[in-house]
Amino acid sequence: MVLDDLGSSLRGTLDKLQGKTTLSEDDVEEIVKEIQRSLLSADVDVSLVMDLSDSIRERALDEEPPAGTTARDHVLKIVYEEMVELVGDSTDLPLEEQTIVLAGLQGSGKTTTAAKMAWWFSKKGLRPAVIQTDTFRPGAYEQAREMCERAEVDFYGDPDNDDPVDIARTGLEATADADVHIVDTAGRHALEDVLIDELEQIESVVDPDRNLLVLDAAIGQGAKDQAERFHDAVGIDGVVITKLDGTAKGGGALAAVDQTGSSIAFLGTGEEVKDIERFEPSGFISRLLGMGDLKQLSERVERAMAETQAEEDWDPEDLMKGEFTLNDMRNQMNAMNRMGPLDQVLDMIPGLGGGIKDQLPDDAMDVTQDRLRSFEVIMDSMTEAELEHPRAVGQSQIERIARGSGKDEETVRELLEQHKMMSQMMKQFQGMGDGDMQRMMKQMGG
Ligand code: GDP
Repeated sequence: MVLDDLGSSLRGTLDKLQGKTTLSEDDVEEIVKEIQRSLLSADVDVSLVMDLSDSIRERALDEEPPAGTTARDHVLKIVYEEMVELVGDSTDLPLEEQTIVLAGLQGSGKTTTAAKMAWWFSKKGLRPAVIQTDTFRPGAYEQAREMCERAEVDFYGDPDNDDPVDIARTGLEATADADVHIVDTAGRHALEDVLIDELEQIESVVDPDRNLLVLDAAIGQGAKDQAERFHDAVGIDGVVITKLDGTAKGGGALAAVDQTGSSIAFLGTGEEVKDIERFEPSGFISRLLGMGDLKQLSERVERAMAETQAEEDWDPEDLMKGEFTLNDMRNQMNAMNRMGPLDQVLDMIPGLGGGIKDQLPDDAMDVTQDRLRSFEVIMDSMTEAELEHPRAVGQSQIERIARGSGKDEETVRELLEQHKMMSQMMKQFQGMGDGDMQRMMKQMGG
């Protein structure tokens, strides 16, 4: 959701409360106005904004700040909690076998989202398959096939068959080996009966565990009607908001969430398969308010570090100095693995997120479980000197390590390449001076 600088305007207002221990009605009103202006300009439904305003007003004036809490922190906490309440929880998506149907109007981003979600599930260690039943939009088949190829996930579609229900049925059989089936459906320009009929038929054949409604972030006021229609037809369990990377405002989609009594599952932030984020309300709001999700980050970091340090006597602050060795990389990968994907970790650091991610090579983020395991085996076949000075490893050593580990030379080279990329990344972080990464590293070090 693009909130027109809510973070900075709100911080300005909050800063005026500095030193105060109680809030006046005027103070609260100023904050509420700030939030209203921002939410309305992001297309959030008026009645939702009014409900939120009432809750904030009531709580800010009625609740006593706990001892030792400033008025500013108190109201910030209330705003944060109420905004989390407004956007709701994230749609429950257990990492297990399941079938998901994507519904939505043409152009909302369904086909793109299907491939992105498949990519996301594959990174979680599941085997997804996309089944493309959109026989209406020319090019949908080819687009889906190409994206799935890029996402390296199973795909089924049949350009010679014009019966979407039949494709869905055959597709499920053809991809029986997959754990997660994502069924992409056809859209229409508008909510026509034929679209809804087709969706209902596919739904009855596929018998999905959940139906997700895909909405373009630019949807605005139309979201409510669309959501109602789709919800009546098949039942909507969650919403995917796409194109949040553009100038779109995104707030309109909240009306769809409200209308269906559902929640947000994913956010789409670009045209590539990796441009998808699982929706996490607290992190999302923290970022909106410009606070960064430091709480969650530091908890995850602490937990991961505690486990890593129990295994090895490793000081993450070493990463900030001197050479980044393969031993460092192994610790780093293990720690990151416990924290979650690196790109999500970066997103939680205030002021960092997108910027630095764009500067990194794509592959720096792509440390999958399988690769990690292969890398472990290879590192076990390396000498201590090689682990400490991987840049000095030459062809004859690569051959020996490959033989010793039972992996091919290509994978050994990939490991060395990965190390090179990660050490470049570390250099970038080191170059950030007294920036946020430095602070995060300090936290990591405890
Ligand atoms: P469908 O008709 O619902 O299947 O929609 P598509 O998946 O074909 O998406 C329509 C257009 O929106 C395509 O050009 C996509 O590349 C683009 N698109 C989809 N999701 C996103 C997103 O999150 N960000 C951006 N910038 N473009 C997107």
